[in-house]
Amino acid sequence: MISGSIVLMQTAISIYLFIIGLCFGSFALAMVDRMKAKKDWVKGRSKCDFCKHKLSVIDLIPILSWLSTAGKCRYCKKKLSVFYPLVELFTGLAFLFSYLYFPYEISGLALSLFVIWLFGLVLMSALIVFDIRWYLLPNKLVYPLIYTALAYRIISYFVNTQGLIEAITATILSLLVSAGLFWFLHVVSDGKWIGDGDVRLGVAIGLFLANPFLAWLCLFFASMLGLILALPMLIHSKKKLKLKIPFGPFLILGLYFSFLFGQSLLDWYTSTFLYL
Ligand SMILES: [Zn+2]
Repeated sequence: MISGSIVLMQTAISIYLFIIGLCFGSFALAMVDRMKAKKDWVKGRSKCDFCKHKLSVIDLIPILSWLSTAGKCRYCKKKLSVFYPLVELFTGLAFLFSYLYFPYEISGLALSLFVIWLFGLVLMSALIVFDIRWYLLPNKLVYPLIYTALAYRIISYFVNTQGLIEAITATILSLLVSAGLFWFLHVVSDGKWIGDGDVRLGVAIGLFLANPFLAWLCLFFASMLGLILALPMLIHSKKKLKLKIPFGPFLILGLYFSFLFGQSLLDWYTSTFLYL
């Protein structure tokens, strides 16, 4: 019966983290709105975008408030963007999957790694919102993400059994792949292909992954996603060949993927193709 209670507990934690993630997704949206309005950004989203009606506590419940009014403002009945509940759902799922597939067993010092990663996820959700809405990865969010990734990397050294030289080498190689490549493209194209925000985001990615293969996997995944989205847009827009697509959200999705599933994928690949 012991394993049964463990499953029950894990399910409870999963549901709890999903709900907490929804709330933090809502918080990330509020933070972005406040940052853009240059107000005190720790307080919540306060007004409807259209009628400026003050929102009550009920209006701020993630997803449920959106569903309960069928995606319309409770006061002016204007259709609200599906973007908001999507960001909330996305953050909730990111919390949930991070719990289920975290690279370490979540206990002891690794528990602090998990909390740091969740904090990073909230910053990344805010960055996704910013980049999609304004094609911008603001330093106010990217620098805290870099410090968060650095804290993660330093603490993970004490969780891993890796030697110091090995750990530093892997981190530097990882940074060269993620940030180094972007920096090169940024300089070569004079900032046209890759923005400086993406280069800084690349630093956070390199620190979180600390493995050149995982960093490469992240870039590959992000480029593929970008290509899949850009192709139909290129076909539909006949005149405008110059497309502006925010790359940040793809990079962040690439980081999620590589961080949670990259190592298993690499292990599978090496065992299947290299040691036959
Ligand atoms: Zn309204």
